[in-house]
This record gives sequence, structure tokens and C-alpha cells, in this order.
Amino acid sequence: TPILNDAGNVKNLITIDTDITELKDAENEILDKKNFIEQQNKELEKHRVHLEQLVEERTSELVTAKEKAEESDRLKSAFLANMSHEIRTPMNAIIGFSSLLDDPDIAINDKDTLKHHITHNGYMLLHLIDDIIDIAKIEAGQLKINKQNSDINLILNELLEVFNERKQNIHKQDINIAAHKAIEDKNFMIYSDPVRLQQITSNLIDNALKYTEKGSIEFGYTLEDISGKSYIKFYVKDTGIGLSEDQQSKIFTRFTKVENNKQKIYRGAGLGLAISRNLVSLLGGNIWVESEIDVGSTFYFTIPNTKEMEKEEPVKVKKIEKPNHSWPGKTILIAEDEESNYLYFKMLLSKTKANILYADTGTKAVEICKKNKVDLILMDIKMPGMDGLEATRIIKKDKKDIIIIALTAFAMENDEKISIEAGCGAYLSKPLRAATLYDKLNEFF
Ligand code: ADP
Repeated sequence: TPILNDAGNVKNLITIDTDITELKDAENEILDKKNFIEQQNKELEKHRVHLEQLVEERTSELVTAKEKAEESDRLKSAFLANMSHEIRTPMNAIIGFSSLLDDPDIAINDKDTLKHHITHNGYMLLHLIDDIIDIAKIEAGQLKINKQNSDINLILNELLEVFNERKQNIHKQDINIAAHKAIEDKNFMIYSDPVRLQQITSNLIDNALKYTEKGSIEFGYTLEDISGKSYIKFYVKDTGIGLSEDQQSKIFTRFTKVENNKQKIYRGAGLGLAISRNLVSLLGGNIWVESEIDVGSTFYFTIPNTKEMEKEEPVKVKKIEKPNHSWPGKTILIAEDEESNYLYFKMLLSKTKANILYADTGTKAVEICKKNKVDLILMDIKMPGMDGLEATRIIKKDKKDIIIIALTAFAMENDEKISIEAGCGAYLSKPLRAATLYDKLNEFF
């Protein structure tokens, strides 16, 4: 407000100031709060979106878990039903034919057929057990791959021999089986696991023969470059019943069998392809099938074509040779608590002219070794009281020269290691074939 002098000019000014700090503070505070709330809202929105995402993810995980649980329930039921059938069928033949063996009304010639069926069904049962153990090991992540220089041509040649023989036994002699090797060079080796390669190829040829009634089967390999990397591409081609596209997508899942021939029921537990798929993947390759109903199927699998450790001697796949089984003057102790197993080993060894001793516990085995000159022991690992490992340790302490061969029905990777550590010179798993036992004894004698 101006204060004027007499002339009417402004002489002074009266001003009134108001301190609005509080007001401004209050305003700022409100603004801050508003910003804060906006910020909070943004945060909340972010959390809401995140929460929604989480709920969505969790729901989808739960749905997958539920589907998996249902699938595994379905597989469990399929497994039980299948297993029961797959075990009972050969058992029925084994028990039935065995009881007919001492029937005096059955001719000797017919008894040979009975024996053939008993052995064949026994091997089928063993094959099934091996498959179950393999799938269990795969699921437990315990299946080991043992890479070394592998002669794949030798593997294929031996499989050709085996399956040419097998086709006769199952009355499919008209099916032509041929092997194709892309590289015939004798020194051609790849660095992989020869035992597993043989197992996969054998599974596939076994199926080809099973699901083919007429025509031919061809298996072999070619060399392929995939994304700049060299691979061996194996194949097994048949002119069998074939598979629809839908069936092709299912058959590599364990316990899955598809039925497209209502006229015939095929034996099998649906494990071979699941095992093969896992083995191929452990070896660094892929497996797949191309097929057409009533025309045939071709199964393919790839393995990296790596060459390492070339100086190493190739490991040959076991070849069954005519065993020499005559060891007069040698003493063999059978340490085995199961009477039927003992009788079997005794029968196998009776024609070897070796002197045979018997112990049904580890303690007795130790005592016998103290009192007798024993050359070799077939030592069952699982015996009551003192087990085979303990007995081996005690015997080896005094008599380092005695050869001890561990026998077990477990066939787990670790068993072999433990037996060798205990002092055994070798390890054999039951059921034991005559040729395998003679081969092993030959090695030592
Ligand atoms: P299985 O012991 O039942 O033969 P696999 O896992 O080896 O088990 O095979 C799974 C299923 O795939 C078989 O039950 C069969 O239906 C189908 N299959 C496998 N190989 C062939 C083939 N070469 N031709 C037609 N079908 C096949």
C-alpha cells in the first residue's frame, strides 16, 4: 500500500508478507504423498502382474504334474498288466515243460523239443529282467557309458550271424537278412560304447524280425554330416507290419506297445525302444523312425563319428568260441548256498574231470581252503553268515594263488568293483551259461 507525500508521490510502501512455508510444505507433502501413492500403485500393479504370471505358471506346472501323475499311473497299470503277462507266459512254458520231462509217455525226441522251449523261454525271461534293470538304472541316472575304440563292422557281422541263426529257430527262414557297411576298411573304428551300440542295434533288429512276417530286413550304417559334424547313421529297415504316424510318436515311451495287427499278439514289454532311445542319447545321438502301415519301418539312430585314443586296442564284442573244458588234476570249490545252483555248476563241471568240492557257507569255504589244495573257487557273493566277499578276503590273505571267481545274481555295476576289490580275479553274473563259465575257466587254467 503506497504512502504518498503532499505532492502526491509515493513516499513509502507498506507491505505485508505472509510466511507460506507451512503452506508450501503442506502442498509439497500432499504432492509427495500423491507421488508416493502413484509409485505404490505402480509397484502394486507390477506385483499384481507378476502374481498373475506366477499363478499362471504354477497352474500350468500343476496341470503338467497332474498329467504326469495320471500318465505314470497309466504306465504303472500298463506295466503291471504287461509284466504279469510277460513273466507268466515264459514261466508257464518253463514249469509246464519241465514237469513233462519226466513223463514216461513222452518220446525222447519230443523231450528235445521240450528242452528247446525251456531254454528259449528261460532266455526270454532273462532278457526281460535285463531290460527292467536297464530301465531302472536309466531312471536312477546310474547307467554308465564306457567309451572305447569300437569296431562297428565286427558288431554288425556278429549280429548278422546271430539273427540268421535266430530266424531259423523262430521259423522265419524265408526272411532275408542283410548287413550293409559303408566302410569296409578293417581298421575303421569309432570312439563309442561297443556294448551299448550292439545292444541298440540288436534291439532294433530283434523288433524288425518280430514284426516282419515276410520280405527282408536290412541293417547297416552310412556316414552323415549334420550341422558340420560327422555322424554314423545306423539304420534297420524291415518290410513288416509298419506303424501309423500316431503310433510312431508313442513307441519310444517306456511300457508302450501299439497293436495294429489284431490277428496276432506280439510278445514284449514295451521297453526295448525306450532303452534304446536313452542309450542313443547317452552316446550323443538321436533315434527316430520312418514307417508306413503294411509297407514296413526303418529305424535310424546317429552316433558321433569321433576318433580318439586311436592307439588303444579295439575291444571286441564277445565271441563264443568252442571251449576247452578238460582240467584233470585241478580242484574247483563251489561255494554256493542255493542247492539248485550248486547242482547246476556241479553238472557243468562234472565233464571237466576237475576235482569238485562244495561249501554252502563262506565259513565252510574258508575251512575247506585251509585243509585242501584248491585251485579255483566259484564264490557266490550272497551267502548266509559269512558272505562270499568276506570269505574271499580271508582266503586271499593266506593263499594268494587261489583264483576266485565271484558269482552274483545282482548284476549291478558296483558288484563287480566290490568283488575285485575283495580279491576276486573275475566276476560272473547269474544265470551263467555253460560257454561263459568254460571260457572264464579256460582263461585262468
Ligand atoms: P516290445 O518289447 O513291445 O517290442 P519296444 O519298445 O521294442 O517293445 O517296441 C515298442 C512298440 O513299438 C512295439 O510294441 C511295437 O508295437 C512297435 N514296434 C517296434 N518296432 C517295430 C517294427 N520294426 N515294426 C512295427 N512295429 C514296431
